[in-house]
Amino acid sequence: MRLVLVGPPGAGKGTQAEFVAAHLAVPKISTGDIFRSNVRGGTPLGIEAKRYMDDGKLVPDEVTINMVRGRLAEADALDGFLLDGFPRTVPQAQELDKMLADMGTQLDVVLELVVDEDEVIRRLAGRRNCRGCDKIWHMEFDPPTREGVCDRCGGQLYQRDDDKPETILNRLREYAEKTAPLIDYYGAQNKLVGIDATGLVEDITVRAIDALRSYGG
Ligand SMILES: [Zn+2]
Repeated sequence: MRLVLVGPPGAGKGTQAEFVAAHLAVPKISTGDIFRSNVRGGTPLGIEAKRYMDDGKLVPDEVTINMVRGRLAEADALDGFLLDGFPRTVPQAQELDKMLADMGTQLDVVLELVVDEDEVIRRLAGRRNCRGCDKIWHMEFDPPTREGVCDRCGGQLYQRDDDKPETILNRLREYAEKTAPLIDYYGAQNKLVGIDATGLVEDITVRAIDALRSYGG
């Protein structure tokens, strides 16, 4: 099965990507992983991407697309894959359709994790990181015994800038702006399936697997 996973920050996309890919027995391909392996391997694309990143600039679409193309041509991805973090925009989605058509195939389905803003804020804004051991606590779901102190190492807990409500809202708005057209694009191809991504991680995985069954998963 060839599948793309989309969802807002805080939807637990990385975790679901792991579980769903394992269930489908396909490689999980994330843009983060592809970037790192190209940079580590010193490939021409990796060197080019690193130059942009070192300058604090966005890596151009063309570089990202070529990295994805290379990864999808690797042996383990020929019979299926789960893409996480790509495409993010309609032009990228069009490029993906083109590269798959060149390979004589196409996407089967796009799975959207649907979670409302309040839930995302509740999940992310409750997180506290330990300065000592990096463990992540949650004020609501996994609170430390003493407020502000790590049970494991006694370190001080803090909130990352990324987890502050105003930052989360900005990230959600940015996601909504960029992704809404992508959702329409795949909806028009009848490839979009949305699942409720609230609740327990295991329950969400079960919903995802059920939803994919009618697409041959
Ligand atoms: Zn700690």
